[in-house]
Amino acid sequence: MLLRSATLADGRIVDVRIFGQTITEIGSGLVADLDEETIDLTGKLLLGAFTEAHAHLDKAFLSERISNPTGDLMGAIVAMGTHRHLITHDDTVERAERAVRLMVANGATLIRTHADTTLENQLMSVEALAEVRRRVADICELQIVSLVSWPITGIAGADSRALLRDALDAGTDVVGGCPHLDDDPAAANDTLLGIAAEFGRDVDLHTDETLDPAKLGLEDLATRVVATGFAHRVTASHCVSLGMQSDMRQQEIADKVAAAGIGVIVLPHTNLYLQGRSQQSAMPRALTAVKALRAAGVNVCAGADNLQDPFNPMGRGDPLETAALMVMAAHLLPDDAMHTVTGAPRAALTGADQGIVAGAPAELVALRAGGVREAIAFGPGDRLVIHRGRIVSGAPGG
Ligand SMILES: [Zn+2]
Repeated sequence: MLLRSATLADGRIVDVRIFGQTITEIGSGLVADLDEETIDLTGKLLLGAFTEAHAHLDKAFLSERISNPTGDLMGAIVAMGTHRHLITHDDTVERAERAVRLMVANGATLIRTHADTTLENQLMSVEALAEVRRRVADICELQIVSLVSWPITGIAGADSRALLRDALDAGTDVVGGCPHLDDDPAAANDTLLGIAAEFGRDVDLHTDETLDPAKLGLEDLATRVVATGFAHRVTASHCVSLGMQSDMRQQEIADKVAAAGIGVIVLPHTNLYLQGRSQQSAMPRALTAVKALRAAGVNVCAGADNLQDPFNPMGRGDPLETAALMVMAAHLLPDDAMHTVTGAPRAALTGADQGIVAGAPAELVALRAGGVREAIAFGPGDRLVIHRGRIVSGAPGG
């Protein structure tokens, strides 16, 4: 396949050749081979395909059925708990697949979803999302994180630890959890890292999703990752309370997070929605310390988190919406915001972010925009999406 006259993020206009699943050549005036499909991308911006770094596909589109009267995190958790019996395997598959297809149409070819792995829910979400992963295998890569409930520590956590092991055996890829909600957050970090090491899996923890500055499990996580020599990738999602620390503490902790190689996933949609409701004066944004983390060299990524469910009734399944929030709420420049939904999460979730260069995997999205800022601002539709060298959404002439 030959993509002609595409505008890259740096403004260069190039032709891009794809062979098999790989970008093989980038240049100008490339001559099409006889059997080569040629697609004219004049006036289109060509980017590395988006990543949705943090989704909850098992809850997607539940807003119509389950409301969250208080609008905060515990309100959402309680609402989910009391309505759990209304959710079935087939219904979860249908909603999750609909969400994946929306995200792929918007340009995401790598999606990481958390799956509720609770004693009430057992393996229902895990099995439903594993089925969705089979159904969408030709259009995107779907990673499933076992979001195990709390407590995970002590005698009270024994059943949850067993369930997490069952979920990993049943096909989830990554160990997840919520240490900040555990009775002993440090012990929860230790337990989750231990089980991940036992199974040889990456870790992605809901970390410090609270405005309480006294809850700071991220620092313990970073220290523990270094001390144990944990050998797999670690990402920390949310890290809200880090944003509530002094500048000096933010820098100190950011240095530890960088030294541990932990990627941080910022989730502006849901945290802007859920947090800060009890503080009407000088309401905090509830985002992590993006500036300090970036300055320390931490790989800062962004995701959408919830999609029209009790945790957030909004969302379009579009990483460009996330990028726009990273510009407006986290004060990133447009190019840096775009990186938080393209290369940064791809590196955090797979270890590889080669971008648009010869030899890189052909994971691409083309859309009508003159540049990165304009793409984020307009979020234009009709996107051409390429996964493993094949068009998986959009019409070549669209
Ligand atoms: Zn989440």
